[in-house]
Amino acid sequence: MSDRSEVGTVSRLPSLEEIRKAPKVLLHDHLDGGPRTQTIIDLARDRGHVLPSGDPDNLAEWFRGAADSGSLERYLETFAHTVGVMQSREALVRVAAECAQDLADDGVVYAEVRYAPEQHTVGGLTLDEVVEAVLEGFRLGSAGPDGQPRIRVGTLLTAMRHQARSMEIAELAVRYRDVGVVGFDIAGAEAGYPPTRHLDAFEYLQRENAHFTIHAGEAFGLPSIWQAIQWCGADRLGHGVRINDDITMSGDGEAKLGRLAAYVRDKRIPLEMCPTSNVQTGAAPSIAEHPIGLLRRLNFRVTVNTDNRLMSRTSVSLEFAKLVEAFGYDWDDLQWFTVNAMKSAFIPFDERLALINGVIKPGFAHLKWRA
Ligand SMILES: [Zn+2]
Repeated sequence: MSDRSEVGTVSRLPSLEEIRKAPKVLLHDHLDGGPRTQTIIDLARDRGHVLPSGDPDNLAEWFRGAADSGSLERYLETFAHTVGVMQSREALVRVAAECAQDLADDGVVYAEVRYAPEQHTVGGLTLDEVVEAVLEGFRLGSAGPDGQPRIRVGTLLTAMRHQARSMEIAELAVRYRDVGVVGFDIAGAEAGYPPTRHLDAFEYLQRENAHFTIHAGEAFGLPSIWQAIQWCGADRLGHGVRINDDITMSGDGEAKLGRLAAYVRDKRIPLEMCPTSNVQTGAAPSIAEHPIGLLRRLNFRVTVNTDNRLMSRTSVSLEFAKLVEAFGYDWDDLQWFTVNAMKSAFIPFDERLALINGVIKPGFAHLKWRA
């Protein structure tokens, strides 16, 4: 068989190396879920914080193992270490700067990274000082060697759903909206802590014309998604995997959408899906069985995200590569996910369009042409 016939008959799928070169967009990534292990070790030494291992590779393995264990306690323990060492201005600046660098190195051109300011005040920082340190880190880490930005990073401020500080954090997000904070989020255990507990914060944000997303439909089912959208007015859904529960398949493979699923699709409500993380937490049985396959086919506004790059040992490129392997996605699919994400970002519409038309489409066109 000649090379020519192989090239002519086999349509080659994007490889991980090629995907890394594509201009990508990330909407759901936790700052405390992505520090470099060497940085955690350095910062732990400064603070006298005891880690499960002092070796970067072993520590990385420990994080992934704990996240994979199926034990919520062990999963939460991982954040006790990352959050535990991110308690000074220097630590926050460093972690945020490295986050921007790592995302840019992965080919991400626009990212929204989130964290909960209230978790970083143990060392004596005020909420405003926490926000300013992280913004400074993103600014430093976004610049290339020539001083030109390699990536644009927007911040989402998260309130913890089991705490009662959401109004304060929402006010903080509005206070810093013109200098890099682009939105608000709530995260934490879904069961027992419905988003409606924080209704005053969401109503305040709506009155301020501010944007927010809500972690919903990950561990907990449709009521959580319904509340997030219809009571709280969320612009986007963090995960939203369980919207799958409102879709029934007939014997001949036809999908029937319930009213909530139809609403989410018809209103083009973005789903911030995080395939590897969802498998680790049991929200999906495997990548191949992840609802993202069905939701993409049904044209929901699906986006692909990392959630916690350290715990899931992942990157946007790796998430894409796993989906290519599981579902046979080609460059058009990957561009579709990317444009979906950029359309769903919380920065002004003209700036989203400039990235779509000036960076994303030309970047994918170049890769498709080479493939
Ligand atoms: Zn998350």
